[in-house]
Order: sequence, then C-alpha cells, then structure tokens
Amino acid sequence: MALRDLAYTHSDFPYLVFYPGGKKNKAVRSIPNKVRKESLSRIHTIIERLVGRLSIKEIDSLQRFLQLDGRSLLPVLLDKEGELDHGGLVKPELFLFRTFSREHGIPIHKEYVFETKISMMSNEQLEKLVESLIQQYTYCAYIHETSHAEWIRDLEERFEQHPLVLFAHSKREELQAVERMNRSNLLSQLKYPEDISFWRHRVEIVMRPFRSIPSDWLWSEGCACEHDKEMYVYSDQEELELYCEICDFSVFLKEETLRLEEEFDIEKAKKRIHTIERQFNEIAEKNDVVLDKIKRLEGIQQKSSRYEMEWNEILLLLKKIQALPKHKGNQPSSPWIDLFRGMEAMKLPKVKHASPLVWLSDVELPHVSMLKRVDEWEGLLHQDVSSELDDLKMELVSYLEGNTMTREEEFTKVNKQSFYWGEVEQVLQFVHDTSGVYPAHTITQVLIGKATNKIRSEQLDKAIQFGAMEDWQEKDAMKALKSLEKQGFLRKLQKGFALTDQAVPYIQETT
Ligand SMILES: [Zn+2]
Repeated sequence: MALRDLAYTHSDFPYLVFYPGGKKNKAVRSIPNKVRKESLSRIHTIIERLVGRLSIKEIDSLQRFLQLDGRSLLPVLLDKEGELDHGGLVKPELFLFRTFSREHGIPIHKEYVFETKISMMSNEQLEKLVESLIQQYTYCAYIHETSHAEWIRDLEERFEQHPLVLFAHSKREELQAVERMNRSNLLSQLKYPEDISFWRHRVEIVMRPFRSIPSDWLWSEGCACEHDKEMYVYSDQEELELYCEICDFSVFLKEETLRLEEEFDIEKAKKRIHTIERQFNEIAEKNDVVLDKIKRLEGIQQKSSRYEMEWNEILLLLKKIQALPKHKGNQPSSPWIDLFRGMEAMKLPKVKHASPLVWLSDVELPHVSMLKRVDEWEGLLHQDVSSELDDLKMELVSYLEGNTMTREEEFTKVNKQSFYWGEVEQVLQFVHDTSGVYPAHTITQVLIGKATNKIRSEQLDKAIQFGAMEDWQEKDAMKALKSLEKQGFLRKLQKGFALTDQAVPYIQETT
C-alpha cells in the first residue's frame, strides 16, 4: 500500500494529513493561504480540543490504520490547486482494506464524501462533524486490526452462536419433521380435519423465525452458507454487515452482538415449537387406524421384497411393452403391478421414534390411495405368489409377441400410402447415423433414392438407406418424416432431426 507515499504534512497542522484527491492528481505540493486560514485552521483547532478524549491505544490504532507518523490523525483531500476536494473530509471506509497506487491520487467515491462547504458551516456544525468523523476513524481503525477474511469468518462463526440458530440446531429433527409433515399427503387422510387445519395455521406462525433464515445458512454443515460473501462497514453506525448475494441474506454485528435481519422472541419460539409438537402427537393418537395401516404396509413391503427377482423380470417386460410402436388391444393390467410399483416407491422410516410426529413425517407414500388397498394386497400375498407372478409374466410375454411389428406391417398411412414398419426402421437408422448433419430435404432425397450432385459428392448414394423408400414421392416422404416427428420418434433440430428416447430401441448401434 502506498498510502504513506501519498501523504503530505504541514507543520502548521500537525493533527492533519493531506492526500491528493482524484485519479489525475499525483501529489500535494502546497496549500494556498486562503484554504489554510478559512478551513484547515478551524478543523485543526477542533481536533486539538478533541484529541485529549482519545486514549493512547486508540491513537496508535488509528495511526497504524492510516500508516501515519507524528501526531496526524485526520485525512483531508486536496485537489490539484490545493483546494479542499469535495469538501476535503472523507469517510474512513475509503481507506479500509484498500491499497492505492503510487501513480494516482486517492480516487473519490461519491458515497465517501460529504460535499459540504466548510466555510458555510457554523463552528458548532463543524465540531459535530469532526467529532463524529474521528469516532468513525477510530472504529475503522479497530476493524482494520483484523483482516477482511478473518472478519468474514468471525461473523459466520458468530452466526452459528446466535441463540435462535443454536436452538434450531438442538431441535433440528423436530423442526424438519414439522416442515415435512406440513407438506405430507398423509395429512388429508387423518381424522378431524378442523384439528389439522388449526395445526397447520399454528405451523405458519411458529415456523416464521426459522423460515426467516435461508436453509443454506440454517442447516449448513459448516458455518453459515457455503457461498462467497460481501462485508460492508458502516462506520457511522459502528456496524458490520455480512451479505450473501445468492441467498440474499445478511447478518449484522454491532458491539459484539450479532443480529439477524429479523429478530424474534426466542423463549416464545421454544415454547411454541414444543406446543405444536404436542398438538400433532395428540392428533396422531386419535388416528390409530391410519398408523396401523402404515404398519401393515410395512409388512406388505417386507413380504413382497422376497419376490424382487420376479418383479424385476416383470418390470423389464413392462418397459418393452411401453416402448412398442403400436398397441393392439388393451395393455395387460394386474393388481400385482400396482402392488409392486407402490412398494417400490414407498419410503418408511428405518427406526422407530418416540415422537409420532417425527416418525410419521418420514413416511412417504406415492399415493394415499395405497391405504385403501391394504386388505386387498395382504390377501394377494396370501396366495401362491410365485405362480401368480409366473402367470402375469406369461401374459406380458404373449402381449409383447402379439404386438411386435414385422417389417412388412403397415405402421401408418401417409397421404393414402402405406408407411411400412421396415421403412420406419430405415428412417430411424439413417437419422441416428447422421443426426444433425443433413437438412430434412437431403434426408428425404436419400430415402427416395434421388442421386443429386450433392448426394453423390457426399457419397450418400452408398448409404444402406439410399432408396429405402424408392416408390415414394419426395413431398410424401417429407410428410412421413413429419409424421414420425408428430408420433414422438423424431425431434426437430436446427438442421434435420435427432431421435427421441422412444425411437432408441429400434436402431442398431454401429461401431
Ligand atoms: Zn449463501
């Protein structure tokens, strides 16, 4: 930092230090008599009076902050002519955590200057301003003793020690359970809806303090969120602000106390959390029917998991059926499919918890209608499951065979012309092999076998698919491509087409 190199002192004003203001002003060389008499001597006399109130420690700290020697304490900015620059007095934030170039003066930032003409101020006004400024410089000198990065760390650590945050951490399980339960589809299945709606209304009030802090801050593994943060210094209020732009959240530090954007009555928050937990558990007690059904679903899940291998085979067949280009007749349905799909998607807590709220909040049913099928599913599992699943498998296999398209089979009609499955496969293969390279009209020309100069020069007349739709008109072949796009096999690109996931099972990977 070259602040020391820019400093200019004058024996008439030992408490002041002068800096060149503005980028094009390299150095202070002299100070005109008029400025000395009118403004500087007034400021200096005030400081002479005030300096006795500062401790030696404060003066030392201030001089270290501004890299000053002798008795100088307060900076004054002068312009090229030696006049006061923008009023001359500046806020100390201008010098905090900053370095300055030896080639330029101190750049003027509007937020740090006062723009007041000292000659227009009464002695009383000026004294008030200088007194407050010295206090602000002393505050910034104190801030300067710790590095910028350390302050940020310090504020993050203090956030973790804030009473609301400490309390939230001690009740993490319950607080998160309340939020999960409040969103749970199970609420609609619980008895006494008026109790439930009262509880949800209370949740909105009780959770406000915890919702006022972004979850990245409240529930992070380390201290506060993991994003890079800004720190702002407000010397006039002697306050620091730590701000995360991504979370749009700040905390403030004043006189050793960390403050959140919004403060709440912690004792009240503690009591309220306890109350909504108790209220929910009373609701749960009255709903033993639902709780019992969930436990029975757990039994169904355990029992059905013995048939995982069979279910995986069925699942594979279902996927193949899903991918069929065309379906004839009704697709097979079976209560077994619902049962296994339900069990697969259902999540139950692994361990019991003393609080029904915490336990129930960990129950995830893909559909609440599962609760109505408990009797039916238990009944199913009392049958000979393996042989039932074998029957289902056979039914699916036969459906799949009955629906597999042959090359000679008509897939659809385009302008009264049959579009055979064999042709569709060729189109898909060509699009796959050349995806995004050729525009739609080149693709159709290849397919109908039109050997234009361009096609010959690209050797596309050698492609296997050249002439795959040779008895088609060019405009109809284009319509055939559009029809494949409409049916979800092709996706339009800026140039030509690409395959969709639906088309993938019908192409052969060439290596
Ligand atoms: Zn953040």
